This record gives sequence, C-alpha cells and structure tokens, in this order.
Amino acid sequence: MADTALMSIPGQADPVPVARDITPRADGRIDLIGLPRERIRELFAEAGLDAKQAKLRAKQVFHWLYHRGVTEFEAMTDIAKTMRPWLAERFVIGRPEVIEAQHSSDGTRKWLLRTADGHDFEMVFIPDADRGTLCISSQVGCTLNCRFCHTGTMRLVRNLTPGEIVGQVMLARDALGEWPNSSSPQRKLGSPADMRDRAKEDPSLRWDDEEGEYTSDGRLLTNIVLMGMGEPLYNFDNVRDAMKLVMDGEGLALSKRRITLSTSGVVPMMERCGDEIGVNLAVSLHAVNKDVRDEIVPLNRKYGLEDLLAACAAYPGASNARRITFEYVMLRDKNDSDADARELVRLIRDYGLPAKVNLIPFNPWPGAPYECSTPERIRRFSEIVFEAGISAPVRTPRGRDIDAACGQLKTAAEKKSRAQRDREAAAASNA
Ligand code: SAH
Ligand code: SF4
Repeated sequence: MADTALMSIPGQADPVPVARDITPRADGRIDLIGLPRERIRELFAEAGLDAKQAKLRAKQVFHWLYHRGVTEFEAMTDIAKTMRPWLAERFVIGRPEVIEAQHSSDGTRKWLLRTADGHDFEMVFIPDADRGTLCISSQVGCTLNCRFCHTGTMRLVRNLTPGEIVGQVMLARDALGEWPNSSSPQRKLGSPADMRDRAKEDPSLRWDDEEGEYTSDGRLLTNIVLMGMGEPLYNFDNVRDAMKLVMDGEGLALSKRRITLSTSGVVPMMERCGDEIGVNLAVSLHAVNKDVRDEIVPLNRKYGLEDLLAACAAYPGASNARRITFEYVMLRDKNDSDADARELVRLIRDYGLPAKVNLIPFNPWPGAPYECSTPERIRRFSEIVFEAGISAPVRTPRGRDIDAACGQLKTAAEKKSRAQRDREAAAASNA
C-alpha cells in the first residue's frame, strides 16, 4: 500500500503526487466506479472476454453503474444470468464508506466518508428553494494552508481518486433516492406533478424547474460544487476524469453548466480546466492587494494577483452568460473596507472580467486567527460592488449546527486525534 499511503505536507504551495486510478482491495477484485468506459472494456478483455463481448458488456455495465445506480451485478437484467457471477468474482461496484451522516435543522446534510485505505473526508448537500447543491471534496485535507480555512490546518493530505470523487455523487443519489426505479421514499412520492404539490408544503422537497437533463424528472440534486476539502486543480487529472463521468450523457448526465469548480488560484492549471473540463469557475480571491492576499492565501506568493486575474480573463468559456464567481471571505478589519470594495470593482473592470462576487461571512473555528466582519460592514461592502453594476450577494451560512458551513470541513477523525493529543499533552504535563 506504499503508493496510497499518507503523504506529509511537502510545503505550502507544492502539488501532491497524483494517486493511482485503482485503489487496491484486499480481496483482489477491482472496483469499477471511477473508471472510464474504455478502461472497463480493457479490463473485461483482460479477464477473458473476446473483443466484441468486452465492448458490449462494458457499455451495458456502464449504463447500470451510472444511469441506474445499481451496486450488484445480479441486478443487471440484460446481462446473461451465468455471466453475472463471473463479473462479481472479478469486480465490485463500490461506494465510499459512510462513517457518519448528519442532518441540519435547515435541511443541510453532511456525510463523513472513508476511503478503502482508511482516510476520512466530507461531503455536504445543501437544498434550496430552486436547486439542490452537492459540495464535494477533491482531496483529503489540503496543502495550501489558507489562514482562515479549517481544512488547511489538517496535517495529512492525499488526492482522492476519480472513483472516490464520483463516488460522492453516487452516494448522494443513493441517499436521496434519485436513481430511476429506486424504491426510496422520494421516488415513491410519485410523478413530478405530485412532487410539485407536496413541495409547496414541504420546502425540503423542492427542486429546480429550469431546463437540464438532471432536473427534468424532479430530482433534488441539481448542482455540484467542488468546494469541499482540497484544492481541485492540485488533483487535476482525477477531478477531470471524475467530472467526465458526471457529465457523460449515458451516465449521470449532469450539464457542465451545473458544475462549479472553486480554486484558490492555481494559475497554470486554469486554462486546462476550461478546455478539458469546461465547468464554471469560481476563484477564491479574498483580497485585492498583494500584502493581504499573501497573508491569507499563501499560494498568492507563487501566483500573484495580476497573473490570476489575467488567467480569469482568458478562462475558456467565460462570458456574460457564464460569469466567473469571485469568492470573497469577509474578515474583520482585514479585507473589508470601502476602499477594498472599490479596488475590487476597479480590478474587475480593468481586466474586463465577466464576473460576479460571492461574499462569504467568515465561519470561525476554534483557534482561527480572524473574526467575521460585522453585518453592517458586509452590507456596505456588498452595496458598493452592487452600485458598480456587479452582482455581490452575501452567502447565507448553511448547516452551522452540524459544522457543514463553508470552510468548516475537517474530519471528525482528525478532530478526535487532536483531542487525543490534547489529553496526552495534559497527562504529560500532570506527570
Ligand atoms: N480549495 C478550493 C475549494 C475549497 S474551499 C478553494 O480554496 O477555492 C471553498 C471556499 O470556502 C473557498 O472560497 C474558501 O476560501 C472558503 N472558505 C474556507 N474557509 C472558510 C471559512 N472559515 N469561512 C468562510 N469561507 C471559507
Ligand atoms: Fe485549501 Fe481552499 Fe482551504 Fe485554501 S481555502 S486551505 S485552498 S481548501
């Protein structure tokens, strides 16, 4: 297991190596989740099927995995009865292990998940009146150490594999009961029209009415944001491969317009992100001058503001219809003055950016070196940007009672080990 073992943080801003695409299993079987259709075909051929069979079975199995969400070969009714056990001997259809599932009073749900080799990471589902957003992780921890971010304080980091990334979406659809013919409670509600009526009474059942493959039958999970743990552009290949599966028309078929990747500013990877993944871009800007951004987003020392904004201006696919989102965490007396708001407007104009701004009230965590700006300050900052004709809504924190809010993701296992360390330290000082 040496190649999937935990890596220590190699430095403030250095990429971690890319993990292998197949996580080895103790029983020797291969987990098909996360593999491209072509790779599934190759594996079937290597296992002994002739070329024609391998291609046909790969196509069928892919459909069962990603369109129907089945986890047993036995359920694949168009595959010969004798072939199903043959497949089950060699392959599995995995999901990340659920360690804990929490439900907030505001409808937000958080899952603590575990990889096959024992690393914990988190995923959050946020239902709104007009959409349901799944916030997924790309790494266990993060190497970038932004000073206001709880995830950035985790000691250990590993890239998630494509299977572990797409596995989060699969798991969410399992939990929400959103596979065709699923027998879960939501599907039993009946037709979209029935659900529409019921949703009037129960906001947690509302769905998005806009056009889009994923929403046409009234599903709850309509959007995906790569805003959980980790820096997605430091795990580019795996994130790209996972998103390809999420967008595949014969599988999950979620439109790229409903997926947003958030980066702290890995400039050299931004163009490839637009070209090869093609999803919406969010950039964690958080400051408008070098000194403050160097302090709160250390990656800025490597890729400065000018380069970052130029890369935004060149982002493939950005337009007035598909704006880049600038995330801006509101830190009291650090980045929240009127002058900061005006400078933000100037930068967006100077670079000709089709942009909107998302103001995020800072979520404090124990030991955090900052405080959240006052509500009046956030309101004023937002007004200045709005007055310049740029949308700048304030994000409402969600799931605070279960620590699911933005930037709070840090696994319970990690918290426990810290508590354990504290106990050990106390015991040592008493000795
Ligand atoms: N690594 C990526 C995506 C994950 S973080 C990135 O940094 O963009 C998702 C968003 O949450 C980022 O904008 C991040 O800056 C913000 N965030 C992190 N910690 C936060 C906190 N304590 N309060 C509010 N927002 C936070
Ligand atoms: Fe990593 Fe994003 Fe947190 Fe920065 S804000 S430490 S890049 S997860």
